[in-house]
Amino acid sequence: MLDNLTQRLAKVVKTMRGEARLTEANTAEMLREVRLALLEADVALPAVREFVARVKEKALGEEVVGSLTPGQALVGVVHDELAAIMGADLGPEATQLNFATQPPAVILMAGLQGAGKTTTVGKLAKYLREQKKKKVLTVSTDVYRPAAIGQLQTVSAQVGADFFPSQPDQKPVDIALAALDHARRQFADVLIIDTAGRLGIDEAMMQEISALHKAAKPIETLFVVDAMLGQDAINTARAFNEALPLTGIVLTKLDGDARGGAALSVRHITGKPIKFAGVAEKLDGLEAFDPQRMANRILG
Ligand code: GDP
Repeated sequence: MLDNLTQRLAKVVKTMRGEARLTEANTAEMLREVRLALLEADVALPAVREFVARVKEKALGEEVVGSLTPGQALVGVVHDELAAIMGADLGPEATQLNFATQPPAVILMAGLQGAGKTTTVGKLAKYLREQKKKKVLTVSTDVYRPAAIGQLQTVSAQVGADFFPSQPDQKPVDIALAALDHARRQFADVLIIDTAGRLGIDEAMMQEISALHKAAKPIETLFVVDAMLGQDAINTARAFNEALPLTGIVLTKLDGDARGGAALSVRHITGKPIKFAGVAEKLDGLEAFDPQRMANRILG
């Protein structure tokens, strides 16, 4: 078992009880522990570096009040900064979807194959229907894997959302435009467009999703990313962030045992709010993202 950050720092700071301030000298070793803890949580190195620098800047000169040890004081700074970066300073509205457009509000899903896009479409459709009373239409533009179209059809039926059928011989942009036209005629409030993912970053995939974005003009473009993704999270996030004007992130598979360092890597690269967390395979396994809880989890 890995020690959590508080335990690790407690070991380091035994020798410096009674010090009244966090200083360059008494934080250097602790900051090394913070860095190691984040790397163990699979946060990508550039994000770790930026974070540790931010913590150092905040911590230096900070008074150690009351019965706190310098280690406890530093854990406090680390936790607050991590929660802030996770989105605590954006406020709870950051997790809300934007519907301020002429209906249908289009939501475009982006992410690698296996990230959880199709499952998340089902979860979002269920949430929007039940909690927001929206009429939802779904469509798949994954013409490369006919099974993916079938999977979305099944998931949509399970949550009672309308499904717009597509065929493998159609072009993704044509499918999206036809679905949009259908959504308008049916007075759907929301159209969710599922897209093809690849196993890794792929230029053709990026061009396709960028073309889909231009054609369908989504008000929400959600990057779906697996919380178990380690160091790769940063490259994946960078590629999608450069190809698309993302509006938010969905972090899936948080019910797994990953610490979820991918959350910090993705925030570091995109700066976009993490709106939802996937917490089960089942279609009710979607929660509004909670920055404080994520900070606790990454710190162990
Ligand atoms: P896509 O290729 O991006 O559309 O990914 P899928 O939606 O097909 O999901 C890939 C796998 O991850 C499936 O087996 C899903 O059941 C699973 N999955 C998706 N989201 C979650 C989640 O939040 N928790 C768990 N445990 N599994 C998930």
